[in-house]
Amino acid sequence: MEEKLRSILAEVREARGKVVALTGAGISAESGIPTFRGREGIWVVGSRNYMPQEMATLEMFERHPAEVWRWYLYRFGVCKDASPNEGHAALVALERALGDRFTLVTQNIDGLHRRAGSQRVFCIHGDAAHVRCADACGIGVVDLPPGLVPRGPDPLTAAEREVLRCPRCGGWLRPHVLWFDEYYDEENYRMDSALRAAGAADLLLVVGTSGATNMPMQIGRVVFKRGAALVDVNPEENPFAEMAELSPRGFFARGSACERLPGIVAELAGAPG
Ligand SMILES: [Zn+2]
Repeated sequence: MEEKLRSILAEVREARGKVVALTGAGISAESGIPTFRGREGIWVVGSRNYMPQEMATLEMFERHPAEVWRWYLYRFGVCKDASPNEGHAALVALERALGDRFTLVTQNIDGLHRRAGSQRVFCIHGDAAHVRCADACGIGVVDLPPGLVPRGPDPLTAAEREVLRCPRCGGWLRPHVLWFDEYYDEENYRMDSALRAAGAADLLLVVGTSGATNMPMQIGRVVFKRGAALVDVNPEENPFAEMAELSPRGFFARGSACERLPGIVAELAGAPG
């Protein structure tokens, strides 16, 4: 490990500092989950091709709810064999070592952190394993109903349409995910909690995040302005790497989550290795 990175991590460990990890699509990509933001997310409705940025919107859901659900079931089909990887496991180990000094904030909706064993996770873009009433009639956030089959692009069956009805008001259930034309909030996406954790962090560990969305950048800026330590793990240059390189206590750890996190976590947790 690079000397500067080791000394940043040792300082946080010795001070028993608070750590926030912010993860993005990169850590899931190593489990084989595509971002669905490029060609793999293109979808045909009627005679038109739609980009993911058009499919994952409230506007599209309001016009074509069954199509949006069909797209999500297709996405679940693509991802159904994905399992958590060493990067996810390293963050579970960090939570066990640091207890309530650790907070995990993820942009990923795939639930891999939860399946790996992470417990305190703020899913700032939601969680695809959950649904809520599209009309917010008050059922809260509930599990994805059983009977939905991850698969190819086949239309919804009558039985699937039935289980996607809200048990209270009979309207559509919607995926519990933040869409491109919606805003972060505390109730569904833990925005305030995530920013509060960033405001108290001694180290922000950014993993596999491109910085394409607004809230992760806001978290990065909060930490940068306070002069807290900032470590960016990413195989490629990105806005967090630039921030880390500008920060006196920052480091751009070039590489993937699986390559870099086990060593970083061992150093932070003080375990041998
Ligand atoms: Zn309802």
